[in-house]
Amino acid sequence: MSSYPHLLAPITMGNRTLRNRSLMGSMHTGLEETGDWSRVAAFYAARARGGAGLIVTGGMAPNREGGVFPGAAGLFTENDIANHRRVTEAVHAEGGHIVMQILHAGRYAYSPDCVAPSAIKSPISPFPPRELDETGIEKQIADIATAAARAIQAGYDGVEVMGSEGYFLNQFLVTHTNRRTDRWGGDYANRMRLPVETVARVRAAMGPDAILIYRISLIDLIPNGSTWDEVVTLAKAIESAGASVLNTGIGWHEARVPTIATSVPRAAFADLTARLRPMVGIPVITSNRINTPEIAEKLLAEGAADMVSMARPWLADEAFMAKAAAGRAADIAPCIACNQACLDHTFSGKLTSCLVNPRACHETELSYAPAARPRRVAVVGAGPAGMMTAVVAAQRGHQVTLFDKAAQVGGQLNLAKQVPGKEEFHGLVAWFATMLQHPLITLRLGHEATPDDLRAFDEIVIATGVVPRDPGIPVAPGARVLSYIDVLQGAETGRRVAVVGAGGIGFDVAETLVHQGTSPTLDPQLWRQEWGVSTPWADRGGLAPEGPRPHPPAREVHLLQRKAEKPGRHLGKTTGWIHRVSLAMKGVRMLGGVTYDRITTEGLWLSRPGEGSQLLPVDAVVLCAGQEPDRRLSDQLDRLGIRHHRIGGADVAAELDAKRAIDQAARLAATL
Ligand code: NAP
Ligand code: SF4
Repeated sequence: MSSYPHLLAPITMGNRTLRNRSLMGSMHTGLEETGDWSRVAAFYAARARGGAGLIVTGGMAPNREGGVFPGAAGLFTENDIANHRRVTEAVHAEGGHIVMQILHAGRYAYSPDCVAPSAIKSPISPFPPRELDETGIEKQIADIATAAARAIQAGYDGVEVMGSEGYFLNQFLVTHTNRRTDRWGGDYANRMRLPVETVARVRAAMGPDAILIYRISLIDLIPNGSTWDEVVTLAKAIESAGASVLNTGIGWHEARVPTIATSVPRAAFADLTARLRPMVGIPVITSNRINTPEIAEKLLAEGAADMVSMARPWLADEAFMAKAAAGRAADIAPCIACNQACLDHTFSGKLTSCLVNPRACHETELSYAPAARPRRVAVVGAGPAGMMTAVVAAQRGHQVTLFDKAAQVGGQLNLAKQVPGKEEFHGLVAWFATMLQHPLITLRLGHEATPDDLRAFDEIVIATGVVPRDPGIPVAPGARVLSYIDVLQGAETGRRVAVVGAGGIGFDVAETLVHQGTSPTLDPQLWRQEWGVSTPWADRGGLAPEGPRPHPPAREVHLLQRKAEKPGRHLGKTTGWIHRVSLAMKGVRMLGGVTYDRITTEGLWLSRPGEGSQLLPVDAVVLCAGQEPDRRLSDQLDRLGIRHHRIGGADVAAELDAKRAIDQAARLAATL
């Protein structure tokens, strides 16, 4: 019997039977906006081939004013319909089902034309919205219904109406954004009129058989958000208006609580879907931080939901369900919820991809086709770059030997997984270890490769990574100076610590130093307390009135940098704020614009503009001052005239992260 009987069970919606209970949640990839619809079709077809039960497209604008940004993709013309038909035909040809998400951004639209129930600017957009009048509201409903009708014409199996995350329909539901006094505002019956009316009109436009998913916000995580009674009232009204399924939405985009980042516990919000399920007669879908078939199966088996939505996991591995069904779950490339190549790209105007899977959204351009001439490939360094090279090269038919002087694979990923809140890195290292068991890969661990080891290979790839940069601060005898590697491996620091360098690693080290006890990521109750999350049945919007209650910091930590700017400005676009808030909540003092004078047994002497040298009394100083490429072997090979490729940190250490290392590795291995 399969390990996932509930996840693999078919489910019927409208007149469609979906092959399993996995929903690929909506993601904006940016592919549609490239205008290359063969790429869009290839992206979704790969996920249908990989076994997704039902795919939801990225959000499509119903009209110009509702687009998330000017030029956002939608279904406006006959030509658009033809383009979308290429996608639906490709998915259906793979035996999949696909619905189109209709996303009206309301006041979240990054455009001066944005509209909303009331003229209240959102904190995450520079544009104040225009308050809609009665005619304007009718136009929005009509445009959404028209988009649904066009979706059916384009061959979609239905639509998902985006009613959560603080977008247009959600904005009508709460007084936070709806101050109207007409029939679209005021009491709850009036505030929910727009979403309910919209669903009824969408159902009428599509006919009775198409799938109509309504994404409902179960916990708003904003002041004056919905109560649980209101959520249930809305859910029932939406069901009566013709929805076939309710999908779960968690938190508005402007919420100051993380909802999908890697530090959020897995399935942290599934209890909300579980509570809604008995209240309605249609299936419910649970969502957020579900990234393995085991968790999905458990939620379904416990009755928390009828289907499980995973979005980013389908970027990390397009064959997620096919592998689960084949009993090969350990082969599923895990989404580590880092956002680095997906949401950070989206919000920087770049095409989405995936740190773990650089082929995501590059299906037509990056191919791992079998090599014309299998070769003997040596890879030195079993960090992210070296491991990815080995995996892709072997997949293409090359005979690979992977060397590392350490006794285990993983390189710097083994440090990342020690950081509280980064536990997902354990899964990433485990996945690489599984993939390295390929019959064409020989591991030579605990062995420092020499030029003599490498000469006989057809291709040599040097992925020896980085060494920590020594910032050259004078150190007095007896002063305690540690590297980040020491600290992440558990070295004792004392109670008061200065961290030199406030890059990604400085933040990680500071987080590790202030942390004590169980990681909140592994304890949902603790995590909720840390971030001030209660429940919508206890408090409006699910925000605890007492606010965040983080555990007291284990140490007094000073996080320093030379640049005269706010530390952490260059962290991930969508996650940097979480790291900054988390450290601030634990009293970490962040200081920019410092010059390091010397380190003594008393502490760190530093100066700031206009001030003399002052002592920061600390027990230890931890150096997180960036990295230098480790090119010792590469230089030796150069001197001997041995041709080789250099990738990852050994190539360029500046701004190196696993995303760039893995991407460079995959692209090189695709050409060997
Ligand atoms: P980094 O981001 O380049 O930061 C290095 C820090 O050291 C900077 O704050 C820099 O600030 C300081 N620094 C540089 N040269 C120095 C010198 N000579 N003396 C004193 N301070 C110096 O490097 P990292 O923190 O080692 O991280 C390495 C890579 O891993 C980065 O690309 C990072 O994004 C990635 N990473 C990412 C995450 C994540 O959460 N996404 C987590 C960990 C690591 P000043 O020059 O202003 O002093
Ligand atoms: Fe998941 Fe990170 Fe890949 Fe995004 S980039 S899909 S968060 S692993």
